[in-house]
Amino acid sequence: MAYPKLSLKKGREWQLRKGHPWLFSGAISQAPNKVAGGEMVDLVDYEGKFVARGYYNPASNIAVRVLTRSAQEHVDASFLQRRLRDAMELRQIAFDTQTTNVYRLINAEGDFLPGFIVDRFADVLVVQSHTAGAERLLPEFLDVLKEVADPKAIIVRNDASVRKREGLGREAAKIVHGDENADFANLPVKENGFVFMVDLVAGQKTGFFADQRDKRSAVQIYSQRMAPGAVLANVFSYSAAFSIYALAGNSTLQTINVDESAKALELAKRNFDANDISQAGHSFVEAEAFEWLEKQVQTEHTFQFVILDPPAFAKSHKDKEKALRAYARLNYLGMRCCDSGALLLTCSCSGAVSLDDLQACVRSAAAQANRPAQIIEVFKNGADHPVNAAAPESEYLKALLCRIL
Ligand code: SAH
Repeated sequence: MAYPKLSLKKGREWQLRKGHPWLFSGAISQAPNKVAGGEMVDLVDYEGKFVARGYYNPASNIAVRVLTRSAQEHVDASFLQRRLRDAMELRQIAFDTQTTNVYRLINAEGDFLPGFIVDRFADVLVVQSHTAGAERLLPEFLDVLKEVADPKAIIVRNDASVRKREGLGREAAKIVHGDENADFANLPVKENGFVFMVDLVAGQKTGFFADQRDKRSAVQIYSQRMAPGAVLANVFSYSAAFSIYALAGNSTLQTINVDESAKALELAKRNFDANDISQAGHSFVEAEAFEWLEKQVQTEHTFQFVILDPPAFAKSHKDKEKALRAYARLNYLGMRCCDSGALLLTCSCSGAVSLDDLQACVRSAAAQANRPAQIIEVFKNGADHPVNAAAPESEYLKALLCRIL
């Protein structure tokens, strides 16, 4: 099978040869005529030599996303099978899939399958396609998923806003495989043996924040040796997973779970029940996080452990400055609520905010709060959200565990 050829401007092939999976539209010297958005093309250098093969979307700033750098490798069902098997193998070595059955199975560029996100929730797979190219390959990809991963059900959730950049619409969730009458809004999943209820139809993101697994384990470990009765303020609590892990480490802790969403707090309570943890001694507070923290500062309430896991403040680079101010303010308030010697876990899932940026926010917050702060652990995406080494753009989550004196 021959693919249409897309020629690159002289010298614009090097990033691709080094493994970067993106070609920006400005690097194109000649695009093939009459290719529909998302069709496969072969990229050739100015001498006509093969560089890479990928899908092309003339409507997108990232014009081509590379699928392979081998001229011999065709993008067909067996290609998709190989990529999927590679991804499954990583998850098998990274954690025990018996005790953890909720994780990201395909992380787009990080698993060398640009445009595809697949999350596993027990026997159910939730698939998203973010690009026109992925959308074209979707029917074949779904067949491969059924065959290789053998799920009970597959839900396609094409409601991500990033689809707009590729000229794609947002669609309601669709059950494309399995029993349509199954209760996908109340599915129990396991993470490190803990049980969490997920709502795959209306839940946030794709229903569960699997990218915090390693941070949650750290919270469990550090909780173990905390003084009896220590108080954990879990701000932006959603599933309350951080509290559940902390309580597994130290059942004497008191947790305060703060979220502005009443539905999230209901979910948090159901997760306490699902793990046989009594809600007595714990609180579930419906409040705007900044306002709640300000109130704690004013009333001089302090805690022994503070977790700040906000939604992305910067959706893109243009929001970065504003986002940095918000992170700095949030961390300042969080530190003011720290007892001397308290731990602060601070997270940012904004792709536009780097680890250095988050560290700078912590630094300025500590200076403003006039509190000595130590950074004791640094975390990133986690093993099921691998980052393509040639494309650090897919690194989005950063977390710092700090000690505040
Ligand atoms: N830590 C959670 C994930 C947090 S997701 C976990 O481990 O599961 C972010 C949460 O912040 C969502 O539940 C959302 O409802 C909540 N949220 C967003 N903006 C908020 C705000 N301004 N104040 C309080 N909660 C907010």
